[in-house]
Amino acid sequence: MADHGDHGALQSLLMSRSLSDSELIEASATATDYAILPDANVVKIGGQSLIDRGSSAILPVVEELVAARRDHQLLIGTGAGTRARHLYALASQFGLPTGVMTDIGSAVAGQNAQILGYLMARHGVPVVGGSGFGAIPLYLAECGAAIFPGMPPYDMWQHSPAEGVIPPYRTDAGCWLVAEVYGAKNMIYVKDEDGLYTANPKSDPNAKLIESITIDELIALDLPDLVVERPLLELIRNARHATSIQVVNGLKPGLLTRALAGEHVGTVISAA
Ligand code: ADP
Ligand code: MG
Repeated sequence: MADHGDHGALQSLLMSRSLSDSELIEASATATDYAILPDANVVKIGGQSLIDRGSSAILPVVEELVAARRDHQLLIGTGAGTRARHLYALASQFGLPTGVMTDIGSAVAGQNAQILGYLMARHGVPVVGGSGFGAIPLYLAECGAAIFPGMPPYDMWQHSPAEGVIPPYRTDAGCWLVAEVYGAKNMIYVKDEDGLYTANPKSDPNAKLIESITIDELIALDLPDLVVERPLLELIRNARHATSIQVVNGLKPGLLTRALAGEHVGTVISAA
């Protein structure tokens, strides 16, 4: 039987205190977390890094996903990429707000989910939008996989960034949030580099691969650019389930499959 903490104490605090009360917040953390889909693996397929490269990059990944779903439950999230960046450039010229840009970016992640969906349709893999998430357990049981647009559905309620106007929580965060909420087994980012480097390897030939690192170490390095969205670091730090992620190179066949099998083949970033 799971430990559900001192429920009576929490209940009386909830009835008498503000929800900002620190004792109440502490008491709310005592119950054992329940993993909803503990066998699911969330796999993010990069937008700019993979899907925008077209068939030469996508088809081998699709092949791996189709084979992997026999052994692993897959929740496949999509990035947005170059078309979203073009739209963010237009929107920012017009002074359009972050919430509007979020909708625009979501549309592109949705297009990429559709593309992947048509490529995997013959294998019975469906595309699931926000309102369809309730059917995910059924899809996983039926065909071992489902595809979703990676953008979190914040819509115009997207958090304002500390700087600039670009939506801070995009598809890396959206996929991670799915892994966290469902208590998934793995959160794997499939991109176009071997993992996290000390600098962007596309512009710095001296960049060195970091095979594993904690959030605190990564924040302390204060790197000018990262392989994942920066707000992800705080999300992982406060995670109750998805306390580590792995970034793997989707241009190298087989690495995604090995990562699904639990191998360390890219960069592992973890809470502690
Ligand atoms: P996605 O397609 O999933 O959105 P991005 O293109 O946003 O992925 O992010 C991956 C890219 O991040 C890589 O292609 C790489 O050029 C860049 N990048 C920036 N900083 C780093 C870093 N420190 N280590 C590795 N890659 C980095
Ligand atoms: Mg990105």
